[in-house]
Amino acid sequence: MKRLVIKVGTAVLTEDNKKLALERIQNLVNLIAKLKNEKKLEVILVSSGAVGAGYTVLKLDKKILANKQTLAAIGQPKLMKTYQNMFEKYEIPCSQLLFTADDFDSRKRLQNARNVMEILLENKVLPIINENDIISTDELIGDNDQLAAFVTYYFKADMLAILTDIDGYYDKNPREYEDAKLQKNISFISCEELEKKPSANSQFATGGIVTKLKAADFLMQNNIPMYLSSGFNLTNAYDFLVEGNHKNGTIFQ
Ligand code: ADP
Repeated sequence: MKRLVIKVGTAVLTEDNKKLALERIQNLVNLIAKLKNEKKLEVILVSSGAVGAGYTVLKLDKKILANKQTLAAIGQPKLMKTYQNMFEKYEIPCSQLLFTADDFDSRKRLQNARNVMEILLENKVLPIINENDIISTDELIGDNDQLAAFVTYYFKADMLAILTDIDGYYDKNPREYEDAKLQKNISFISCEELEKKPSANSQFATGGIVTKLKAADFLMQNNIPMYLSSGFNLTNAYDFLVEGNHKNGTIFQ
């Protein structure tokens, strides 16, 4: 593996979307630094968390779309500043790339973004990607799971790793069924699973498991594997991404 995309969701990066979860962010930064500096991987980070970061500055009602977008506008630089400070210790420069769904439809825009991406990665800069929330109205992306899948495909990465608030994909919702079993390997996702209503764990999360399955399905169709694991406790992600040892978490391929 040469190029890896890591996606972290709101549940991991913020405490109830009200403030940034700094300790978890630091653990994530440590993992990425290891992958870049020791494993010599090209890493692209897809990060949510802008709304939560914005809410620490201004208490607006997040249920109103324009307020949410305003909070994202305030929070995005704050989030980037947090990453920048943490990555500085490892001498890893950060960069910011904001996308909307349309950007992937336009050949010219995609080509521009690809050119920039290659220069960034060649120079060992960490690209940090988020949806451009301020102008996004399109339901095509609407969540960073699918954005991360597009990023993985269009920027020719070898794998997508989604770090979330659960340690993998279960045969049924583990928050509802005690006997739910984690599935370590998945090679097929049924239409029925893909069409289920999104069921995010918290009211602040956007995706739920369905958007992750859609991301996995899109990537599997393009022969790219996806790994789903916990972003709360990174032990399994370390084992798999650093040591190449699949102890836990789900691999879709
Ligand atoms: P993020 O903010 O990282 O995108 P979400 O809260 O949107 O995370 O999605 C993960 C949640 O999906 C889990 O916490 C869990 O409550 C829910 N979920 C529903 N069905 C399943 C399943 N079969 N396996 C794992 N998680 C599931």
